[in-house]
Amino acid sequence: MSEMKHWRIDLDDDGIALVTFDMADSKLNTLGTDTLAELREIVARIKADDAITGAILASAKPGQFCAGGDIGDIRQFAGPAQPGHEAETLASDLARMARDMEIFRGLETSGKPVACAIEGAALGGGAELLMACHYRIAADSKAVTIGLPEGSLGIMPAGGGTQRLPRLVGIRNSLPILLQGVNKSAAEAKEIGLVDAVAPEGETIARAREWIRESGDAVQPWDKKGFKIPGGGPYVQANSEALAVAAAMSRKAHFGNLRAQESILSAVYEGAQVPFDTGLKLEIHLFVELVRTPQALAMMRTLFLSMREIKAGANRPDGFDKRTFRKAGVLGAGLMGAGIALVQAQAGIESILIDRTQEAAEKGKAYAVKSLGKSVQRGRMTQDDADAILARIVPTTDYALLDGAEIVVEAVFEDREVKAEVTRLAEARLAPEAIMASNTSTLPITGLATASVCPANFIGLHFFSPVERMDLVEIIRGEATTDATLAAAFDYISMIRKTPIVVKDSRGFYTSRTITRYLDEPCEMLVEGIAPAIIENVGQMTGMPVGPLSLPDAIGLELGLHVLQQTRRDLGAAYVPTATDQVLEMLVEKHGRLGRRNGKGFYDYSEDGKDKTLWPGLGELATPTLTDAFDHNVKEGLKKRILYRMSLEAAKCIEEGVISDPREADVGATLGFGFPKWTGGPISLIEQVGVANFVEECDNLADRYGERFRPGKMLREMGESGATFY
Ligand code: NAD
Repeated sequence: MSEMKHWRIDLDDDGIALVTFDMADSKLNTLGTDTLAELREIVARIKADDAITGAILASAKPGQFCAGGDIGDIRQFAGPAQPGHEAETLASDLARMARDMEIFRGLETSGKPVACAIEGAALGGGAELLMACHYRIAADSKAVTIGLPEGSLGIMPAGGGTQRLPRLVGIRNSLPILLQGVNKSAAEAKEIGLVDAVAPEGETIARAREWIRESGDAVQPWDKKGFKIPGGGPYVQANSEALAVAAAMSRKAHFGNLRAQESILSAVYEGAQVPFDTGLKLEIHLFVELVRTPQALAMMRTLFLSMREIKAGANRPDGFDKRTFRKAGVLGAGLMGAGIALVQAQAGIESILIDRTQEAAEKGKAYAVKSLGKSVQRGRMTQDDADAILARIVPTTDYALLDGAEIVVEAVFEDREVKAEVTRLAEARLAPEAIMASNTSTLPITGLATASVCPANFIGLHFFSPVERMDLVEIIRGEATTDATLAAAFDYISMIRKTPIVVKDSRGFYTSRTITRYLDEPCEMLVEGIAPAIIENVGQMTGMPVGPLSLPDAIGLELGLHVLQQTRRDLGAAYVPTATDQVLEMLVEKHGRLGRRNGKGFYDYSEDGKDKTLWPGLGELATPTLTDAFDHNVKEGLKKRILYRMSLEAAKCIEEGVISDPREADVGATLGFGFPKWTGGPISLIEQVGVANFVEECDNLADRYGERFRPGKMLREMGESGATFY
C-alpha cells in the first residue's frame, strides 16, 4: 500500500482498523481525486488483509466528519461535451463516476463489518460515505449535522445517496433531505434510522469498536435476501402521496426552475423499483446528464467556486501585509451601526459605538443584546460567550474613546454635512494609518473623502441590512483611495467573515443599481396594462425572494422616489423619465402611499401588517389588458423581461467598469439581493442563454417593448466574436 497523505490506519489488537480521515493542508475533509484514490486503496486492503477483522471510519477534523465532494473536481467533467464527441465524453464520464461509486460499494461488500463514528458535520458525499457503512454512531453534539444539500445547489448526490437513503429511512423520510436539503441532528437522524445509535461526544469510536466485537454484521440490509424498503415502495399509498407532495412543494419553492429537483425525484422514484445496483447506475446516469447542463455549471461555479474565491479575497491587491484589527469605531448606532458593531464584536474586535446621545448609543448595543439573546435561547452559544461579545461593544458619545482604533465605520444619517462632521471628529482621534470608512448607500465616496484629512485612507464599505445576516459588503474605492487602504478593507471584511466585492464610485454602486431594474420593468408592465397580480406572481416565479411590488413596499416608496428625484437633479437634461417615475409619483405624491410604513403602498396592509391585498387604485395607471396568464409562453415572456433587465444592467456595470470581475457580479447579486440561484447570477444567466442568443433575444424585446432592452456595445461585440465572460 502506498503512503497515505489524507487518511491514517491504526490497527488494534483485535484487528479492528481505525481509518481516520484527515485531509492534508485543509481545514475540511473533502472527497476528490486524491482523497478518493487513497480511500480506494484502503477499501481494497480492508477486503484483502486477513489481519483486519473490521473497520471504523472517523475524522480528525474537529466538528467535522466530511464536507462532501470537491466541486472543483466535479466541474472537471461538467459542461457540454465537445461537438462530435458527445458519446465518447458521456461514456468516459459514466465510467469515471462508476469507478468512484465502486469505492463505497466496495466498502459495504468487503465482507468485513464497517462502522462510522460521526462527531461532526457529514454533508453531501460525507453523508453518502456514512450510509455506505454497516453501522453508524453519532455523537450527541451540536456539531453533528447530516444532510445532502446538492438538490438546492443545482446538482444531485452521486455517491449512492438517492439509493441508500430511501432504503435506510424510507421514501417519505428521504424526500425532505434530498429535495429541500433538510439537515438532521444526531437525535433526528437516530429517530428516522439514518444513524443506529447516539453516544456521548468522544465515545463514538469506542462504541463502534464494541459493535464490531459483539455483533458486527457485514451485510447491508439491501444486500440481504428479501429486502424491502422501510415503509414500502413508491406505490404504497403513503409514499405515492409523499412523492406527489414533494413534487408539488418543489414546484412551489422553485417554480420548475431547478432541474436538479426533477433528477432527484426520478432517481428516488425509479431507483426504488429496481435492484440496488441498477439504482446506483441510474443515479450516475442522471447525475452525468445533469452536471453537464449550463444551469448546473453556472450554479456550481457561482455558489461554490466563485463564492469561495471571492470570500477569500481573490481581488485583494498584492504586496501588502495582512492587517488585523483589534479596535474599531462605529459612528451612528442606528439600524446599520448597531449591526456593524455586533459583527465586529463577534469577530473579537473591540467596538466603540458612538451616537449623538448616550441613550441612542445604548439602543444600538441593545440590538446586540437582543440578537445574541436569541442565539443563546436557541442553543447556538452559551450565555458566557454572549457576554464576552457584548463586553466588546462600548456605547458612548465620547470620541476620545476612539484612541487606538484601527478603523472607523461611519453609519450616521445619509447627509453629507452630518457625515463630514463626524468624520472630522473621529479623525482627530485616529492614528495616521487608521482607515476611515463610510457605509453610505448613495453618496459618492470621493465627495465624502473631501471631509477627511487623509483621503488616501478613506473608503466606502457598503453593508446590507440586517448586517449580521447579510454576507456581502461592497467596497467602494474613492479617487484618492490607495491600494494599501483597499487591501486593509479586504482584511477587515475577512475578519468579520463577510464577502467583499469591489465597485467603482458611481451612482447606485453595483447591487442597488442592478436591483432597481427589478422595480423598473414591473412598473413598465403596470402602465402597459398587465394586471398587478400577474406581475407579482411572475416576479416570484423568476426565483427572486420577494415579489417586485412587495419589495419596494418593504423598503419604502418615499425612499425610492427620493433617489429618483436626486438622480433627476444630478443628471439634469440627460435624465430620461421612466414608468417608475410615473408609478411612484402617483403612489407617493398623489395618494400619500409610502409602503408598509403607513400601511399603504402597492398593497393595502391590515393593521397588524400580517395581511395584504393589492391596492385596487393601481388600475388608475392603465386599464388592465392582460388579466390572466395561464399560457406558459406568456408567463415565460414576462419572467424573461424581468430577469433580462437585471442581467443587462449587470453587463452594463461590467462594460462601464463599475465592477470588473464577473464572479463579483454574480456573487454580489446572489448575496446582495437574492438574484435567483438557479441562474448562477445575472452574468451567468447571460452565459446560460449564450451571449449571442441573449443579444438576439434582447434585440427582439427592444423592438417590441422599447430601447431599454437594446444590448450595449460590449455584449454585441462579445456575441459577434463568440467571447464569454468566464
Ligand atoms: P438610522 O437612521 O437607523 O441610523 C442613523 C444613526 O445615526 C441614528 O442612530 C442617529 O442618531 C445617528 N446619528 C445621526 N447624526 C449623528 C451624529 N452627528 N453623530 C452621531 N450619530 C449620529 O440609519 P441607518 O439605516 O442605520 O443608515 C445609516 C447609514 O447607512 C446611511 O448612510 C444609510 O444610507 C446607510 N445604509 C443603510 C442601509 C439600510 O438598509 N438601512 C443599507 C446600507 C447602507
